[in-house]
Amino acid sequence: MEEAMSAADIGNPGPSPMEALIFPEVTDDDLDEGNKQVEYICPLCKERKIYVTSKELFFHMRIEHKLLIADSHLICDLERYLNYWHDRFQEEPIHALGLPTSEEDNKTYYVLCDQLQEDSELRQKLQVERLNIILRTQQKRETRCVLLKSVFVLSGALHRKSL
Ligand SMILES: [Zn+2]
Repeated sequence: MEEAMSAADIGNPGPSPMEALIFPEVTDDDLDEGNKQVEYICPLCKERKIYVTSKELFFHMRIEHKLLIADSHLICDLERYLNYWHDRFQEEPIHALGLPTSEEDNKTYYVLCDQLQEDSELRQKLQVERLNIILRTQQKRETRCVLLKSVFVLSGALHRKSL
């Protein structure tokens, strides 16, 4: 009775040598960013101070450094974007990079935006890379789908053979 029930349970087919061979190869965990803890670093602080939310970081940047990021919600990989600028600001001071400025409440803010060619190129690069990751993930999923179908067909054939 119990054996018949477990065999019919499709969600938990139990270990088989075939699965052990195939499934570790097609996992896309390395590309799944859903569970990844994001860490934003301030581009201007020398020490890599980590912020868990972009809102906290943007507040710090505005108050401490008078630096804003335009259209931050459109940046594909904000972590890498910030890391890039962190490295750049170590090489050159902010006023030497030709960043556009914005006046607000009689204060002048530097603005990281795509008016600056270097920024624009960085945003595009991150966009292309994100697209490639999505394509790779899709390909992996399709491969897994095909493999699952093959396993299903094969196990059906083996089952019929053993009868
Ligand atoms: Zn800072």
